[in-house]
Formats: sequence, structure tokens, C-alpha cells
Amino acid sequence: MRAAVLYEHNSPLVIEDVEVDPPKGGEVLVRMAASGVCHSDLHMLRGVHPSPLPAILGHEGAGVVEEVGPGVANVAPGDHVVLSWLPYCGHCRMCARGRPNICENVAWSEVGTMGDGTVRFHKGEERIHHYIATSSFAELSVVPAQSAIPVDPSFPLTELSLLGCAVATGVGAVFNTARVRPGDTVAVVGCGGVGLNCVQGAAIASAGAIVAVDTEPGKLELARTLGATHAVNPSDSPVVEAVRDLVGGDGVDHSFEAIGNPATIELAIGLVGRGGQAILIGMAPPEARVPFDALNVTFQEIDIRGCWYGSVRPPVDFPLLVDLYRGGKLRLDPMIRTCGLDEVNDAFRALEAGEVARSVIVYDSDNGAAQGSPKAGGL
Ligand SMILES: [Zn+2]
Ligand SMILES: [Zn+2]
Repeated sequence: MRAAVLYEHNSPLVIEDVEVDPPKGGEVLVRMAASGVCHSDLHMLRGVHPSPLPAILGHEGAGVVEEVGPGVANVAPGDHVVLSWLPYCGHCRMCARGRPNICENVAWSEVGTMGDGTVRFHKGEERIHHYIATSSFAELSVVPAQSAIPVDPSFPLTELSLLGCAVATGVGAVFNTARVRPGDTVAVVGCGGVGLNCVQGAAIASAGAIVAVDTEPGKLELARTLGATHAVNPSDSPVVEAVRDLVGGDGVDHSFEAIGNPATIELAIGLVGRGGQAILIGMAPPEARVPFDALNVTFQEIDIRGCWYGSVRPPVDFPLLVDLYRGGKLRLDPMIRTCGLDEVNDAFRALEAGEVARSVIVYDSDNGAAQGSPKAGGL
């Protein structure tokens, strides 16, 4: 089967044939129908967050179950599935508290293996690592069964693939982490795949003013399409003053930072008004440190909260997201520009250049799963 393999940081992915082993106990083999290209993949490519190489990136996938390993009960061959990139043990302190997204026992997924410490991908004698137990830049991938969430087969998997990262993270940040209520004011800093889904999550939650902040006019336009009531371009005006003018008072109830840049994190904290909260979603580089007005945070009771994977519990939240999509509230097609696996390196270039909200790789497939996909959306 073909896959896009990263051999060296900052070098193009190599599209080539790779062998994949059958699924072991508790694992499933998925024939990928589609995979989004996310900023976290770009961070891996650039070596910002180190992980063993060679590796097959991609973590926003959807496909059809080809084969299940021993002991798998939640899916069967032929099931359409969206992939979560969040394995969890189910019995640690955090899992028991209903917070599997910060499970204490899945360090293995960060070092490029499956749960037993081995890999399922090989090229001859060479081991090829997984990426957070998903590796969706491959025609076939082995994932933990708990990461394969079954979905209604009548929906196009090209669109549903976005649920696996951008939507789960962005909408989850609004619903689960921030718990935005009707009428609350919101600012979203960074309107890529995740930020745009913060915008539409806030719109679904009936937020009041929703201010999108980005330097790309095309992304701001898309944010308006998805529910932003206002747009601010830092190139045009000082953001803190502009947002205060728009929402009144001293800032917003909730700001979401979806980039991971120290300067924009500082901005997101500065946008929050009294009693509000800054939700930090973007992955900052490991050495990043951010200054903020500590006195203001204290006397205005401002919360600064981390958000990992939208605080999702995949078996609960993914079906909810599918229902929102089914009901027409959650829109996926305006964000998508499709491409082939061979074009993955250009998709990274477009992502880095800010040309596209989401490139989605659509795999050649005889299972019909990719049918119904939009031809060209994005910016
Ligand atoms: Zn992602
Ligand atoms: Zn756990």
C-alpha cells in the first residue's frame, strides 16, 4: 500500500509502497478514504515537536474498517469510521474523572508505536513509526479500536475526516473546555482549521459577538461564513482596542488561541475582560514562555486554561458532532480543498502559506466512501 513517509525533518514526504502488518489484539486495520492535513503534522515535519523517524504522519482521518484484531467489539469490517487520535487507558485517574484526553498511560503514542511498543509499518527491514497511533497519510493504517468511531455510512468521509481533529478540537474547546453560553462574547485568534471551528462552535452555542482575528483576509471571510459577527485584521488595527470597541466593556468572555505562538497567546490573554477566560489550544514550541499582566489576571479573576483536543471524550462527542452535521448546523464543506496523496507536499506548502483552511487528501478507493466530496473549496 502507498503511504507518505517522513524520513528527515524539513524534507519532503516520500510517497512510496510500505508494508502494513495485520491488526493485533484491540486494533483495527482501516482503509483510509480521506485525511486532512493539519498544523500538527506541519509541526512534526518541521521538527518542532520531535518524534522518532521515519514516520507516517496524518491524524485527521476517516475510512472503512478492513479487518479487526482479536477482542474488538465496537466495530466490524465494512463499518465507516472517523479516527480519533486520542488513545486512552480507561482506568487511570484522569480517565476515571471523565478526562480521557489527558490520560496518564498513553506515552507510547507519542513515541511512534502502538500500545505494545511495536510498529505495524515496515519497508523491508526498516521500521516505520506511527504518528499518534493514527498515521492517516497511508492507504491502510492500523489504529487502536477505541480510536475508530463508527459513523453513518451515508455521509461523505471526505467531510467527516475533519471531525477527527479540527472540528473535535475547535468545537470541543467551545462546548467542553470553555462551556460558552448563549449571549457570551467570544474572540478567536487564528482562523485556520481549528480556529474556524471555534467560530462555528460559538455560533452553534448561540454566543453573542464572535470576533475572528487573523492576518489573512480570506480566512476572515470564511470565518464570517461560519458565523463570526465581526472580523479584525491585526494588519489594519490594534486588536485589543478593536475588540473592546466591538464587544463593549473591557474584553470578551472567552478568547480562543488556535495558533500556538507566544505573541498571539499573549494577545488572547489580553483580549479577555473581567471574569472571562483565555482558552489556549494552539501547540506552542516547547521552549515558549509567555508574559502576561498578572495583576490584571488576579483582580479581574481571569482564567487561563489549556485545551487539549477540545477536552473531548471521543465515544460521547464524535456522535454529537455527527448529529450537528446531520442537522446542518455544523458545516464542513466550506473549509475543504481536496487533493491526492501525491500532492501532500504541496498541501503543506499551502498550509504554511495560509492559502487554505484545510487540504483533505482523498484516496483512490473502490469502496465509494470518498464519493460526494466537494471538488475545491477553501480560500
Ligand atoms: Zn490536528
Ligand atoms: Zn487513562
